[in-house]
Amino acid sequence: MRTAQHWIDGNWRDSREHGDSVDPATGNVIGTYAMAGEEEAYTAIAAARRAFAQSQWRTDRQLRAQVLNRMADRFEGATDDLVEILSLENGKTRSQARLEVNFAPETLRFNAALALTDTGRASQVSAGEFSFMVRQPAGVSGIIAPWNSPVALGIRSLAPALAAGTTTVMNLPWQTAQTNAVVARLVGGTDGLEPGVANVITGGHVSGDVLVRSPDVPVISFTGSTATGRAISRAASENLKRVGLELGGKTPLILFADADLESALPVVVDALIVFSGQFCMTGSRLLVHTDLAERVREDLGKRLEAVRVGPAADPDSEMGPIISKKDVARIDRMVEEAIASGVKVIVRGGPVTDGPLAAGAFYRPTLLEAGDSKLDIVQNEVFGPVLTMQTFATEEEAVALANDSQYGLSASIFSHNVDLTMRVALALESGSVWINDWAKLHDQFEEGGFKASGLGRMRGFAVIDDFIEFKHVRLTPGVTQSEHKHHLAGGSS
Ligand code: NAD
Repeated sequence: MRTAQHWIDGNWRDSREHGDSVDPATGNVIGTYAMAGEEEAYTAIAAARRAFAQSQWRTDRQLRAQVLNRMADRFEGATDDLVEILSLENGKTRSQARLEVNFAPETLRFNAALALTDTGRASQVSAGEFSFMVRQPAGVSGIIAPWNSPVALGIRSLAPALAAGTTTVMNLPWQTAQTNAVVARLVGGTDGLEPGVANVITGGHVSGDVLVRSPDVPVISFTGSTATGRAISRAASENLKRVGLELGGKTPLILFADADLESALPVVVDALIVFSGQFCMTGSRLLVHTDLAERVREDLGKRLEAVRVGPAADPDSEMGPIISKKDVARIDRMVEEAIASGVKVIVRGGPVTDGPLAAGAFYRPTLLEAGDSKLDIVQNEVFGPVLTMQTFATEEEAVALANDSQYGLSASIFSHNVDLTMRVALALESGSVWINDWAKLHDQFEEGGFKASGLGRMRGFAVIDDFIEFKHVRLTPGVTQSEHKHHLAGGSS
């Protein structure tokens, strides 16, 4: 059995501490991994710092674009390998793993193009005196990504960090160490990438904390929970460093009275079960117009009961396992507490405790009806396939329910009344809004959170600004006033 290692300064590195990688569908050990602590993080930061100071990376944008395009080709060529290991280690069904993996080459290519885009301003601010803006890479970027989509989310931060000309240390989670090693091989082996420019370590909060506290890492690009985002923001403030935060969510799915349930309900099911509900954009709050409520209870209930839960290895599986048994127990505790506090059970779902799936971390989809928005199950992210349903009678009520949340990552609206959907889209406190759809993301459009769902934006043109320092240069080139007047009068020099 091979040990998944770190990629630091152009070499594979082991650690003193090791762990076992586990298949969540069976509980079987599938490999071992080196676990980064403080030492690995400091070594990687030193390598990235040296590469920033000494390599061509920060000044050669053609090189950056070439390398990112080559990296994209490598990820595309390794799609099947990545799908295989990600579904084994993270539990995603093959089609859902492919959905994740396919983001990587697209994101890398978009950022290769961004590397060549320099949009600045220049002005003759007064006679003979000039000002212009220079965009400079900030230094070493610290990237921290979670286990639920390590390939797509790691690359979502890595690609713009490299495009901007920063050098990087990427802290990927120990839960997906085997996948991280494939990512490290694909990134690290890219032709033209000098040692130290992109370092990939497998770790957790100890190595992550080193990145956050190090004065040598001026930028942190973090994806993870709101609680950790807050802790990182506090720690980073010591050094006044810049943090991009992509955090948790509690996505409302709003079914208006004219919604076409035949097309909307399959989207609602997907919004709940994709990545087994372990998706920042999981549709977890269903808001239904009272006219539709009875039909939705019945029809959606049937659809959720029919979801085929099983391992990624079985092509018939529609929803894979949860990341661990511990998380199955945590999710079920939240559901039990909700039931005790009075929510109505439409579909109980819950842990699979018998039959061939019992050894794995499986949880069947759950649908609960809540009368009160203040309940924990409505307010807090479950990070599992648990959907609450609430009803509303008016557009204002729907918007108020949707916005009654600390989160503001994304929302879906189902209606064919274009005026209503646009009014509601503009009123929602949400970074992304989909109309008659869910979780459609494109590299050319920004993604991120309002309120406690984050700070800054990933993707789109805004993404690169996280990794850039803007510098105003004022140039008084010695053009004398009389020479200037001569020019204005049409004289030649
Ligand atoms: P988490 O916040 O517990 O951990 C994320 C990573 O942060 C860990 O893998 C670890 O390496 C690192 N970390 C933990 N504590 C740290 C600390 N104090 N300092 C520095 N680094 C630290 O999140 P998780 O449970 O791994 O991931 C699930 C969460 O991520 C959910 O809340 C989900 O909504 C969110 N998420 C958000 C997005 C988005 O784009 N907004 C995408 C995916 C996941």
